[in-house]
Amino acid sequence: MIPPGSTVGVFGSGQLGRMLALSAKRMGYRVEVFSPDAGTPAGSVADAEHVAAYTDLDAVTAFGKRVDVVTLEFENVPVTAVEAAAIYAPVRPGWRVLYTAQNRLREKTFLAQHGLPTLLFRPIRRPADLELAGRELGYPAVLKTAGFGYDGKGQRVVRTLGEAKAAFAELSSECVLEAFVDFAREVSVVAARGENGSFIHFAPAENRHANHILDVSLAPAELPAAVAARVVALTREIMASLEVIGVLCVEFFVTERGEVLVNELAPRPHNSGHLTIEACDVSQFEAQLRAVCGLPLIQPTQRPAAMVNLLGDVWARGEPDWASLLTESEVALHLYGKAEARPGRKMGHVTALAKTPQLAAERALRARLKLTEA
Ligand code: AMP
Repeated sequence: MIPPGSTVGVFGSGQLGRMLALSAKRMGYRVEVFSPDAGTPAGSVADAEHVAAYTDLDAVTAFGKRVDVVTLEFENVPVTAVEAAAIYAPVRPGWRVLYTAQNRLREKTFLAQHGLPTLLFRPIRRPADLELAGRELGYPAVLKTAGFGYDGKGQRVVRTLGEAKAAFAELSSECVLEAFVDFAREVSVVAARGENGSFIHFAPAENRHANHILDVSLAPAELPAAVAARVVALTREIMASLEVIGVLCVEFFVTERGEVLVNELAPRPHNSGHLTIEACDVSQFEAQLRAVCGLPLIQPTQRPAAMVNLLGDVWARGEPDWASLLTESEVALHLYGKAEARPGRKMGHVTALAKTPQLAAERALRARLKLTEA
């Protein structure tokens, strides 16, 4: 066990690291973060901020020597950095899940090989691959880069072979072509797994996107009990197969008929789990801390809640009217301390609690609207 008072190292320094750091500091841990950027959301609340490239293995080694355990809030940390840090401190989750989740082709191949339900897909390495793949999957389809995609970046919906070829030329890297799924809902499960295989999970969340970026999450998602049980069981199976120690989120598509398909894995806390800070006795960030430090994991209790993201767009007409939001009860404001409010950039979020997740969503949406109404 890595007890309170120890130092937790974090690869990545965005809002996920910030909320982890706040949770860890509450419990008496020291926190040091490592990323290529200075003055970051996590760095500004951590005890130390290491600023260097992930490929600077001397800097990674120095970081590894200073901390008792390393976790991450950003899954695209090169495996070489993970290995360099792991000489001095356990890195949780480890290389196996990171290597798998860093690349959609590897991730989908893993899912298919384990008999886990996922979308039909084909690897696309050259334009000619699109011809057979397009015929096999049909159109519309979705072309996605295999590596480094997030928030809808690096993906295009394509309706013809011509569009697919144009999109491939534009994305200009290894891709996967995916069948388009006419899903009824998107849901996600955030869960934690300890070194001894212990497993806890949060209630499945329903996620609504706008422009490919998460807009609203509400939990517990309104799902038939069998579907809710299935998404949790699949999450547990995925985490066990990948030997995850830490937190992982699985995003699912649920069809009208209740069929469940895995869309993607994120081996870290997730935007759809932010509402657990107010809704649960143990949040996703505390669960991550507990899992990576070998502290007991307990199944959280959870109240109905909803979260809406605050993107840079909210600042379009100047400083939002914070007072209007702060007069609401059962509404919590989170800002990540980012200086520049660019459109599409996640600057903060609002969580609301209520009797039902739907009422909580209405409350959170109303609160966000008031920010820009004045
Ligand atoms: P991703 O980055 O793969 O999570 O995709 C971002 C969002 O695009 C998803 O949450 C869906 O709303 C949408 N999307 C991605 N892939 C598909 C697909 N194959 N069929 C339908 N919608 C998709």
